Amino acid sequence: MRPVVTFQIYMSNSTKYVFVTGGVTSSLGKGIIAASLAKLLQARGYSTTIQKLDPYINIDPGTLNPYEHGECFVTDDGAETDLDLGHYERFLNVPTSQANNVTTGRIYQAVIEKERRGEFLGKTVQVIPHITDEIKDRIQILGKKGTYDIVITEIGGTVGDIESLPYVEAVRQMLWEFENDCIVIHLTLVPYLAAAGELKTKPTQHSVKQLLELGVQPDILCCRTEHELDLTLRKKIAKFCNVSMNAVIEARDADSIYDVPLLMQTEELDKVVLEKLGLSSKSTPKLDNWKSFLDRLKNPKSEVNIALIGKYVELKDSYKSISEAFIHAGVSNETRVNVKWIHSEKLTKSNIEDELRGLDGILVAPGFGSRGISGKIEAVRYAREKKIPFFGICLGMQCAVIEFARHVLGHSDAHTTEIAEDSNYPVISMMEEQKSISNMGGTMRLGAYKCQLKPGSKVATAYNTDRISERHRHRYEFNNEYLKEFEKAGMIPTGKNPETGLVEVVEIEDHPWFVGVQFHPEYKSTVANPHPLFVAFVKAALDNKTK
Ligand code: GLN
Repeated sequence: MRPVVTFQIYMSNSTKYVFVTGGVTSSLGKGIIAASLAKLLQARGYSTTIQKLDPYINIDPGTLNPYEHGECFVTDDGAETDLDLGHYERFLNVPTSQANNVTTGRIYQAVIEKERRGEFLGKTVQVIPHITDEIKDRIQILGKKGTYDIVITEIGGTVGDIESLPYVEAVRQMLWEFENDCIVIHLTLVPYLAAAGELKTKPTQHSVKQLLELGVQPDILCCRTEHELDLTLRKKIAKFCNVSMNAVIEARDADSIYDVPLLMQTEELDKVVLEKLGLSSKSTPKLDNWKSFLDRLKNPKSEVNIALIGKYVELKDSYKSISEAFIHAGVSNETRVNVKWIHSEKLTKSNIEDELRGLDGILVAPGFGSRGISGKIEAVRYAREKKIPFFGICLGMQCAVIEFARHVLGHSDAHTTEIAEDSNYPVISMMEEQKSISNMGGTMRLGAYKCQLKPGSKVATAYNTDRISERHRHRYEFNNEYLKEFEKAGMIPTGKNPETGLVEVVEIEDHPWFVGVQFHPEYKSTVANPHPLFVAFVKAALDNKTK
């Protein structure tokens, strides 16, 4: 007799799942393709979210050095996540959460904790089914919320990696269990061989074969290419890879990531996805706002040069949200923002003038630890004394406080206890609740907190309100013992946490635009809502230039 098959956990529901896998090589831009597709589906009225599954063993990227993995993005609910979540938010203008980023570390942690609680009732705990079940649950958490019509799940890494096997297996099982509700988009590379003068489809064929060996037939192929994918090539790929002709999508290199949704619309990626999911596609959305954003991005009326001072500038992905926020704010001001990336370790008192002369604005970036700190402090001093618009974010704000204490208040040994634990003048010190914490991962002050702004301040003017909420990621804070002294000398706390009194914003009164923020405004800047502080900072830089 055949066993009775029950699907208690995985009952079909109306949420549709789109999986995005990658083949041939990494860095093909799965995140941008996923975000672009989500944008197009959102524009057709489908509520859509994106999730990233990362095959590494860290619980989250919070403990990763930015050189390893680029910026660590932070959500409202305090998740430290992959930077792709930033792209999702910037494209969709919808916040993500803890559930939108899952790593192998987190999957194993959850399974092992269940094992310790005895939840597996004496069974041997194995990759299949226990790890794959946990992965499937994590994928469906977003679907079960009932908020989303479509969940797009991006599988990190490249098909064929040992690490991604359980994820591809989970996808295979879901395709089997929810036949009509799931599809797979495989992003692959069609390289151009200059010597042959040809685009080559073989790597794509091989990568699809690799997926097939794992039991997964992709429904759609997005082919990254430097040249046009002509009809002959599309036919060839379709034939070798068992996909329909209209499901071979050309993903050409673009000038800007913000071009990609429109390129995907021209290729009808969204239409094909909806067809395959059995959803209606009605008329193609116009995306007027998106197009006008792109139009202004490509036709700026002026330009400004702004220094971004940080210690990870060799890898620009380390400051992804900041550089994207500059793009949004530039568009708002109809201005191209040229970012001059400056390594804080290379800045000294003697070369500061040469490095920063002629720049219209100076941003000192977030960071941790002592490397490059003196260069950051020098940059603050230059901006303050020369009255150049200044924006300090998190560690950048803390450097502004230290600089002011040293050079205006005259306490030459002022410092942060992060770097000088026994400083005689600890103007930045560890937050009280951090003092008993010894674990590094997930223990900072993370996520969104409210902030009350001082009416009439530069920040209140920029936000056009005095109640805001911004995201955080820090252990140290402005030391309120010194507040009066700072205020008297002209550095004013213009934003405070209404419950704890923690200083979130400082400004210098006698300066065209000098703002330091303890939070990270860059995480909340999107195409639809450029961040007001970045908009105001670029505007100040523009005013400074034309002055
Ligand atoms: N290192 C500082 C702190 O922990 C600043 C952190 C940051 O810039 N994100 O408070």
